[in-house]
Amino acid sequence: MSEAIRIDSETGRKIFNTRAAKASEKIKGKGYSVVTDQKLLELPKLPPGATFNAEEQAKYRAFKEARAGAADYMAMEGQFKKYLDDVYSEPPIPREALTDECEILVVGAGFGGLLLWYKLREAGFTDVRFCEKGGDVGGTWYWNRYPGIACDVESYSYLPLLDETGYVPSMKFASGFEIMEHCQRIAEKFNFYDHCLFHTTVEATTWDEASGRWIVETDRGDKMRARFVVLANGILTTPKLARINGMEKFKGESFHTSRWNYDVDLKGKRVGIIGTGATAVQAIPELAKVVGELYVFQRTPSSIDVRAQRETTAEEREQWAKERGWAEARRGRFARISEVRAAVLANDDYLAGKVPDFKERKMYDRKLTPEEYMEKQLDSSFRLMEQVRARVDAIVKDPKTAAALKPYYPYGCKRPTFHDEYLPTFNLPHVHLVDTAPKGVTEINERGVVHEGVEYPLDVLIYATGFQWMGTSTFQKIKGREGRTLTEKWNTEGTRTFLGLHTSGFPNLFIVTGPQGGGGSFNFTDVIYAHADYLVWMMKTMRERGASIVDVHKGPEEEYAKHCAEVDVATAPLRDCISYYNGEGKATPGSLAYYGGRAWEKIRGEAQSTLSPYVFG
Ligand code: NAP
Repeated sequence: MSEAIRIDSETGRKIFNTRAAKASEKIKGKGYSVVTDQKLLELPKLPPGATFNAEEQAKYRAFKEARAGAADYMAMEGQFKKYLDDVYSEPPIPREALTDECEILVVGAGFGGLLLWYKLREAGFTDVRFCEKGGDVGGTWYWNRYPGIACDVESYSYLPLLDETGYVPSMKFASGFEIMEHCQRIAEKFNFYDHCLFHTTVEATTWDEASGRWIVETDRGDKMRARFVVLANGILTTPKLARINGMEKFKGESFHTSRWNYDVDLKGKRVGIIGTGATAVQAIPELAKVVGELYVFQRTPSSIDVRAQRETTAEEREQWAKERGWAEARRGRFARISEVRAAVLANDDYLAGKVPDFKERKMYDRKLTPEEYMEKQLDSSFRLMEQVRARVDAIVKDPKTAAALKPYYPYGCKRPTFHDEYLPTFNLPHVHLVDTAPKGVTEINERGVVHEGVEYPLDVLIYATGFQWMGTSTFQKIKGREGRTLTEKWNTEGTRTFLGLHTSGFPNLFIVTGPQGGGGSFNFTDVIYAHADYLVWMMKTMRERGASIVDVHKGPEEEYAKHCAEVDVATAPLRDCISYYNGEGKATPGSLAYYGGRAWEKIRGEAQSTLSPYVFG
C-alpha cells in the first residue's frame, strides 16, 4: 500500500492522503475593493418617462435578433486540451488503483461534497468516498482563481458551515481566495481529506443489477463499487472556448480564465480578453492595474450594478461571537428574498434580524392575472435596466464606449453583474473596448485578434468564454438500468428527474444542484443545503426500512417535468435575450433543464410524507 492510502486500524477502512501540494505561491487576490466615491455606490435616478413601450421593446428585439446565431462554442479538445491542465497543484500523488467497495461515492469536493460530508457524518454515515478532479477541495473556487474573483451573494449567507467552523468572512462579498480557504478549513476540521481521492476523474458509472451496486471507473485505473453515487460536480464546471477562425495560430501566451496561468507575467504586456460575462467583469479592473495595454473584446455588454463592498464590522464580529447559529438564521432570512435586486442589496438590517422585512410590500387591491404580473415584472426590469444604462453614461466619459457598454435586455436574462471599478476602468487611457457586436470575434492570427480589418497585436490572450451549463459530460458516462446513459435518456424523453435529485431507471443515483434541482433562491448554497438534507433523510429512511435500493416511478417524474416546463413557459418573457440560460436563445420555452420555481419544497415535503414517488427494493 502506498503512502497515499493506509488502513484505519479501528474501522479497517481505507484512509486517503491524496491532497496535492500547491503549485505556486503567486496565486493571491482580494476580490472587490472598498470604494468610497459615492457616485459609484448608487444607481442614478430613473430617467423621467421611462416605460417599456413599443419603441423600447423593438430596441430589445433588435438587440437580440442581431446576435442570433453568433454564439459558437467548442470543447477544449485537440491542441486546446492543454487549457484544461490543473495549473494550481503539483502533479497527482501516486497511488494504486482501487477495486474495493464503499457505501456512498460522491463525485466532487466543492461546496456540495463538503456539505454533504458534514451532514452524512453527523447522521452516522461514514463509509463515504469522494472523487475530485482537482488537487484540493473548493470546486468552482478551486478552479477559478482569476484576479478579482469574489462571490456575488453576500458571504455571510453564502459560505457554508460558518456557525460550525466559527469563521466570519472578512468582507461582505468575500474573495474567491478566502472562499477556497474556507473550503480547506471545513475539510480540515471535519476530516474530509481522509475520504477524498484527489486528481481522480470519474470516467464511467455503470449500474450492476445483479449486485445492486454502481461500478465507478476513473482515470486513475480505479474500478470501485458503491451502493450509492451522488453527483455533486456542479452545473458550470466544464470550461468552453469560443470557436474562432485561426485561434490555433496564435503565437503568444493564452489561457482560459478558469485555469489562470500566474506563471505568465502580465506586467506591462499587451493583453486581450475575449468575453464580458461575470468572470471578465471581475477580472478586467484587476488586469487594468497591471498590464501595459488592455483590449476588451466585447460582443454583448453585461449589466453592471452597484457592488458596495465593505469590510465586516467589529460590531458584527462581536454580535456573532455571542449569537449561536447566527449564519443559519441569516441564511434563512436571505432565502426569503425572491427579488434579485433586493438580494443584491442584501439589506444588513433585515438580514441581521433588526427589521422585519427588507422592503415595504406593495399591496394590490385585487389579485393580478399572470399576464398582468408578467407585465409588471417586465416593466420594473426595464426601469432597473434604465438605471443601469444611466450609470454607464454617468461614469464612462467617451460616448462611443459608453454606448457600447449599455445592455438592452431584461435584467437577469443574462447573469447580472456588480462592480464599482469596472466602468471607470474604461476611462483609463490604456484600456480599449473593442466592440465586436453583434457577431463577436471571428478571426485570430499569429499575432492577435483581427476585427473588421484591424489587427490587435497581443502578447497574451485570455478566454473569458464561460462554461457548459447544466450539461456536464458526466451525464454521458452514467449507464442505468436499461443500459442507456443519462444523456441518452434525456435526449429521447426530455430532461426527466424527480426534484432534480432522482431520475427513474438510475437507482441509488442522486444529483445535487443539477437540472431541475432549482429552488428559486439567489443563493445556490441554500439549494445545496436543501439537497444535502434531503439525501441524509433518504439514507436514514432507507436504513429504517431496511431498503438497499431506491428508484422513482415514472409518473411523478413526468409530473415534475411538466411542472418545470410550465414554470419555464410562464417566466420565458423574462429571459427574452441571448444567454446560456436559454440555450443561446435557441431553446423553446418549456424545454429548459433549469428550474427556478418555488414549489420544490412543497413537492419534496409531499413526497417525504407519502413516500409514493419511490420504489424501494
Ligand atoms: P459567460 O457568462 O458564459 O461569458 C462568456 C462571454 O464570452 C460572454 O460575454 C460572451 O458574449 C463572450 N463570447 C463568446 N464568444 C465570443 C466571441 N466570439 N467574441 C466575443 N465574445 C464572445 O462566462 P463567465 O463570465 O465565465 O460566467 C459564467 C458564469 O459563472 C456566470 O454566469 C456565473 O453564473 C458564474 N460566475 C459567478 C461569479 C460570481 O459569483 N461572482 C463570477 C464569475 C462567474 P455573449 O454574451 O455575446 O454571448
